Amino acid sequence: MNKKNLTILLLALAVPVTAWLPLPDFWIAQLNYIGLYALVSLGLVLLTGVGGLTSFGQAAFVGIGAYTTAWLTLNTGMSPWLTLFVGMALTGVSALVVGFITLRMSGHYLPLATIAWGLSLYYLMGNLDVLGKYDGLQGLKSLSIGAIDIGQGRLFFVLCWAILIAGALALTHLLDSRPGRAIRSLKGGTQMAEAMGISTFRYKVTIFLIAALFASIAGWLLAHFQRTVNPSAFGLKMGIEYLFMAVIGGVGHVWGAIVGAGLVKLLDDYLQVALPALIGTSGSYEVIVFGIALVLVLKYLPDGLWSVVARKFPKAQRVVDWQDAADLPVRAKPAIGEPVLVVDKIRKQFGGLVAVNDISFDIAAGQIVGLIGPNGAGKSTTFNLVTGVLSKTSGRVTFCGQDVSALPSREISRQGMARTFQHVKMIADMTVLENVAMGAYTRGSSGVVSSMLRTNQAEEQRLMKEAQRQLERIGMGAYMHEQAGNLAMGPQRLMEIARALCCDPALLLLDEPAAGLRHKEKQGLIAVLRQLQGEGMSILLVEHDMDLVMDVCDQLVVMEFGTLLTRGTPAEVQANPAVRAAYLGTEH
Ligand code: ADP
Ligand code: MG
Repeated sequence: MNKKNLTILLLALAVPVTAWLPLPDFWIAQLNYIGLYALVSLGLVLLTGVGGLTSFGQAAFVGIGAYTTAWLTLNTGMSPWLTLFVGMALTGVSALVVGFITLRMSGHYLPLATIAWGLSLYYLMGNLDVLGKYDGLQGLKSLSIGAIDIGQGRLFFVLCWAILIAGALALTHLLDSRPGRAIRSLKGGTQMAEAMGISTFRYKVTIFLIAALFASIAGWLLAHFQRTVNPSAFGLKMGIEYLFMAVIGGVGHVWGAIVGAGLVKLLDDYLQVALPALIGTSGSYEVIVFGIALVLVLKYLPDGLWSVVARKFPKAQRVVDWQDAADLPVRAKPAIGEPVLVVDKIRKQFGGLVAVNDISFDIAAGQIVGLIGPNGAGKSTTFNLVTGVLSKTSGRVTFCGQDVSALPSREISRQGMARTFQHVKMIADMTVLENVAMGAYTRGSSGVVSSMLRTNQAEEQRLMKEAQRQLERIGMGAYMHEQAGNLAMGPQRLMEIARALCCDPALLLLDEPAAGLRHKEKQGLIAVLRQLQGEGMSILLVEHDMDLVMDVCDQLVVMEFGTLLTRGTPAEVQANPAVRAAYLGTEH
């Protein structure tokens, strides 16, 4: 039995064992509340901690789950085991509607929008006659299976914590999968993920939905645990507290949600008793203490309390179990000499400035074409027009015979155009292997549910095998298990090339791959480029370093002030007086 399965078994045993320990009922009740809160903050760990999307509105989703089961069981006599799913469906629809509207907003608008959403649902619950206004609904039955009453005590503890641990395991599985890597890339901005063929908007909506569903299940449990629902449990104050639990426990750590929930609940109870005794008057002073505690945690432990624990137990190296996995399918590519990329009079205007002025060039399969020019010539803009990051003012780009002029970068990448970035974009806390596997995103298909249930393993092995193969292809095999963030600049850039190769590209675009490299690292890069050239890879290289460009390119395209100055072989370009003038600034 491996370590992972052992952990799961121990967790599965811990719950019933705890339930039958001779603990006082009060403790069990506390643990029940902690389990309920942890379930909500678990969703927030995914949404806010991992995905970087802040929501103050989680309590409202708890409310939907709770009110749905309360109203239905009281008014229709429906079984709570069915109302759970009705509640989840209602929550799901609300989350999708709210998500589609708000998740396109950037920066502070999203948290503000979730506050508005949380408040409006709170007032709605408080003002609807059918929901009992601010008194809420009373007299719910506790959960039961046949004649067995699950009640509020030990059996409820077993149910609640079993759901919690299953949820936490599902999330750990999810984060270590194809969609999970996509989710983990969201925090670093959308450009890299989109270039890997990932729809970042879809994943934002997905994690918003998952977090809402966790909250809804917690609401269902809470309603039958307390046997009464009223709006105060689902207002903005609770929304803030849930976020607080996720942040204190550990923004990126699934198990931190439980630590955070436990800490906030116990501290909350303690302070409600201790503070009035200390100050002499009663009032919600604990809010102030929480505020101070939050500031301190954010300052001294920005990754939350669980990060301290996680540091003590470094993640075990991934077991290499994919040698026998099947290879991923490869795409048909143009034969050597056939056109891969045809750029026809592309143009980009920023207001009055023509950054790229009707540039045309083409790349034949197997060629390395260098795009050069002085600073501000329009190279990066051209690069972004070709890859679909920027929209063209006019002109046409044909890739492998297909017109891709109007496609976004995500779709162009799906067609087999892979790129690296001028400033390395990676997920620093993932291993090199996992980062590289992101490049093969579009060659897999496993989704969120199969990843949570771990039925994605065959595909996962194929992706890992491909990532290892591409790393070894460019001599990076030894770095496979390193944390990407620990690499020096040279290996980081090579890692990006391996990631791009993982997409099985028909064309590789490199944006200043030599920038910031030391001499020795540059030699390594040249060796890799030569090797790829030998293998027949087609490459567009935007580069500042003249030695490198002259060394590896078959053709050069020279730009100046947004226009095409000249094109030809490195020798022809070097002999061209206009190019010398552009670089040296002399009159020609
Ligand atoms: P290079 O990569 O060759 O150094 P760029 O493509 O970055 O050049 O820039 C070409 C010109 O377009 C420059 O004058 C730059 O200031 C301008 N430019 C680039 N991006 C933008 C933008 N987003 N908005 C306005 N002007 C831009
Ligand atoms: Mg540039």
